[in-house]
Amino acid sequence: MTQSIPTDFPATRTAALERLARFVPHAGADYARMRNHDFGAGGHRHVSTLSPYIRHRLLTEAEVLQAVLGRHSPQAAEKFVQEVYWRSYWKGWLEQRPAVWEMYRRGLNAALDQVQTQSGLRQAWADACGGQTGIDAFDHWARELRQTGYLHNHARMWFASIWVFTLRLPWELGADFFLRHLLDGDPASNTLGWRWVAGLQTRGKTYLARPDNIETYTGGRFRPRGLASVALPLDGPEAPRLPLPPAGQMDPALPTILLLHDDDLSPAYLLDHVANPLGTGFLSTVKDRSPLHVAPLPEGFASDAMTDVATRWKDRLGDLSPPRQEVEALALWARETGARQIVTPYAPVGPNALALQALEGLLAPDGIRLVRLRRAFDSAAWPHATHGFFKFKEKIPALLGALKGIGVA
Ligand SMILES: Cc1cc2nc3c(=O)[nH]c(=O)nc-3n(C[C@H](O)[C@H](O)[C@H](O)COP(=O)(O)OP(=O)(O)OC[C@H]3O[C@@H](n4cnc5c(N)ncnc54)[C@H](O)[C@@H]3O)c2cc1C
Repeated sequence: MTQSIPTDFPATRTAALERLARFVPHAGADYARMRNHDFGAGGHRHVSTLSPYIRHRLLTEAEVLQAVLGRHSPQAAEKFVQEVYWRSYWKGWLEQRPAVWEMYRRGLNAALDQVQTQSGLRQAWADACGGQTGIDAFDHWARELRQTGYLHNHARMWFASIWVFTLRLPWELGADFFLRHLLDGDPASNTLGWRWVAGLQTRGKTYLARPDNIETYTGGRFRPRGLASVALPLDGPEAPRLPLPPAGQMDPALPTILLLHDDDLSPAYLLDHVANPLGTGFLSTVKDRSPLHVAPLPEGFASDAMTDVATRWKDRLGDLSPPRQEVEALALWARETGARQIVTPYAPVGPNALALQALEGLLAPDGIRLVRLRRAFDSAAWPHATHGFFKFKEKIPALLGALKGIGVA
């Protein structure tokens, strides 16, 4: 009989704040000592489990850092602070190399074509996604992911390593499996996390899942047999580094509407610029995280998170328009409001950025501007994501210093 796995991620800001408050006392020495231990669903008490909230920005990185640094010194919370900045680092890195996301999507489509024509590959892929490989730990994580929408970071590393080096499946299919099921499924952290394990990100450096390491850090729950004992790096083309796109500038004189999307559901910073929007719409691209069917848990999380924002901010957002996936429908709505300008949170590389680009094209003939406002937090961090994380992390003290000036952004 398979173990039943609890799931508990209500998509509200209240739930996020409660989770943050519970975790803050543990974000110092406890986190540094215990964060690599994975005791399974219901036992993730040594990590914050805040990623679904931070990924959708129901809670911002700045808020999390300020709460933690209100309780611990930067030295005591160094490990946790660094983890929060990994997300900024990955986003900034991908933003400067958008071709890496395009290569991933092309590689995924090619692998999905192979799945159609090669029955052996199709079976192995179905077994891996269904938790039927016979590798007990791996099968458990596949089920935990499908049932809860969350995996501990160490489990993500072990899982990706076994997928690539033991099962020898295309890494893009594994990254896609994660994006279809993770509540925090994120183009930058996920693609670059998989590339890092496979040896494509830090060239030549791979991550090998070892039975003794798994046994130690799962509290003895698993010691899988038959894992690959070497992990030779995969090979792939380099992507050119491009300048960061400029942050948008809005025109305060124009009638304006807001457009929220699942990369940023904390609209306070937009309302600092647009005090009285004519209305607010929602762009929903969760379905575009994968060419396949995205699971109900991530879809439900993003949809509930949008409902939560709309409910909490209804007095400030003007006429509310329901979430839409089709940019044509959004363009129609924008025209009907009489707005001359749409202000939206900057969307980093991924489905929202693509949809916004398409929307901009549709609205250009009507002279309606689309302004992507980037948070000061991102504008400060992203330019430093040029090389490896070790170079980036040297900037963290200065970034934390600047946070005080930014306020909660
Ligand atoms: C193969 C692979 C795929 C991944 N895919 C995703 C993904 O799709 N979405 C996603 O949000 N994270 C992804 N991660 C990163 C990381 O595993 C999760 O962010 C983390 O496990 C979230 O759990 P937590 O909130 O309890 O983390 P905590 O340990 O409590 O960390 C606090 C916060 O720091 C950030 N963080 C921590 N570790 C990382 C990391 N390695 N990279 C980026 N940010 C980090 C997250 O915002 C997290 O909420 C992936 C990692 C790997 C190895």
